[in-house]
Amino acid sequence: AEMEAARAAQGPCRMADGTRIEMFANLGSVADAEAAVAEGAEGCGLLRTEFLFLERATAPTRDEQARDYQAIADALGDRPMIVRLLDVGGDKPAPYMDLPVEENPALGLRGIRVSLADPRLLEDQVAAILAVRQPCRIMAPMIASLSELEAVRAVVERHGRKAEVGVMIETPAAAISADILARKADFFSIGTNDLTQYTLAMDRGNAAVAAGVDGLHPAVLRLIGTTCDGAARHDTPVGVCGSLAADRLAVPILLGLGVSELSVPPARVAAIKALVGTLDMVKCRAAAIAALALPSAAAVRAHITTMLQEIG
Ligand code: PEP
Ligand code: MG
Repeated sequence: AEMEAARAAQGPCRMADGTRIEMFANLGSVADAEAAVAEGAEGCGLLRTEFLFLERATAPTRDEQARDYQAIADALGDRPMIVRLLDVGGDKPAPYMDLPVEENPALGLRGIRVSLADPRLLEDQVAAILAVRQPCRIMAPMIASLSELEAVRAVVERHGRKAEVGVMIETPAAAISADILARKADFFSIGTNDLTQYTLAMDRGNAAVAAGVDGLHPAVLRLIGTTCDGAARHDTPVGVCGSLAADRLAVPILLGLGVSELSVPPARVAAIKALVGTLDMVKCRAAAIAALALPSAAAVRAHITTMLQEIG
């Protein structure tokens, strides 16, 4: 029985009704990649490249980056890897970058805005990612407008190597205009940490409002639903890489809304994969519809707790 459980843990992730869900991991190092593979991850849904840039006096060169990305890709074997373009600014400082001091950093120069303001930085990172022997998918953080995606794609295309280019959905603007972004995006990955902060207008790092920062707030769930509906019009696959993907009470709703890939911390891969295996799509769709009509995150949590108890 133990060996059977181990085999199931390593096999493809499926719901109880057979629906295929990709179970990916969020990574920031080679050690993370090794841990994720051991836990049964099928790939990397979010490589937080800023981890490779931290604790340094200067930005890494193109070659240094290429070596780091290659090492992580090698630890993943032939599993897919989604590499997120540098996501600094806001709550992620980069001392060597000399970013301006801002009164409102969460609403300032952060994510893709930093890369688009510094073409050399973006150019080097894209070149380093495209130098990896295994094909990588490239993902842009903090997108608010189609023009930002087009600018990133133009840089990728100039390199003459084909790579999928996707968008993180973590601003309300991106979620609301998902059908427009989906025309030009190869995939979406919802960053529920930032999407929650910006939807509820509550700083994700501020202890005074921490109790209210819950991605199961129906307003956030509605934006996730809008994202999935917009994506479906163009057959754009939708993943979730924010912390909601690792929340047992969120998973049935996410799958019911149309999410087909979950990316979670390595230590959560086996547990979330096992949970997905107990869930039925028809029930998840009903749970999602019910959740969207509830008045609070607390009500949503109570509703899903009952649902999971019934599954046993
Ligand atoms: C998110 O915002 O949900 C996300 C995955 O990105 P990060 O937590 O790195 O901002
Ligand atoms: Mg984010």
